[in-house]
Amino acid sequence: MTKQTANPFLSLMEIPPGYLNIMGYVDESEVNGPGCRAVVWVQGCHRQCPGCFNPASWSFEINQLIAVDKVAKEILSNPRNTGVTFSGGEPFWQAPALAHLAQKVKAAGLNVMSFTGYTLEQLQSDYAPAGAQALLEQLDILIDGPYVESLALYSPDSPVSSSNQRVHIFNPVFEDKISWASDQIEIHILKDGTRIVTGFRGQMGLSE
Ligand code: SF4
Repeated sequence: MTKQTANPFLSLMEIPPGYLNIMGYVDESEVNGPGCRAVVWVQGCHRQCPGCFNPASWSFEINQLIAVDKVAKEILSNPRNTGVTFSGGEPFWQAPALAHLAQKVKAAGLNVMSFTGYTLEQLQSDYAPAGAQALLEQLDILIDGPYVESLALYSPDSPVSSSNQRVHIFNPVFEDKISWASDQIEIHILKDGTRIVTGFRGQMGLSE
């Protein structure tokens, strides 16, 4: 059973301003959004959806603290990254820092996409997590809604993992660029030999 923190708010307060608590990071993914892009998996999600692809991301405890400036530099240091995707975990629990990161990479010409377990309407409501609006304003694409196992889609024709999820294209440039599919998979071999398996239902699996 993945360890859950009793109070996510207390754990979030342990993240210094200007930092993110992340689960993982890869460059040059082609299965987590349009084109070739970096992916940032944030740490912490309270939903515990049955069949969740990343249960290791549920805990809000500090996993890897990294400065927003450092993540931006990393993303921009690889010219093959034309955008960045925020996944998780729940990106909107760390919305202020991600909005700041999005601003930095967009200023350099990259596009930004995010997954979320919230619906767009919830993110636009009075009950949205802090900073939600600022992050929404930076996004080119949002995939909203939690993963619902009974509605699962594993299809080369579907960019979402369950049929309740929706693709919101805020930037019309991407209208005809929804090219990834929920049944695709990618394996990244890092310099230290660690392998990251990603793509299939947005997962991030680690193995050595
Ligand atoms: S919202 Fe996403 S990360 Fe969170 S439990 Fe559900 S499937 Fe997992």
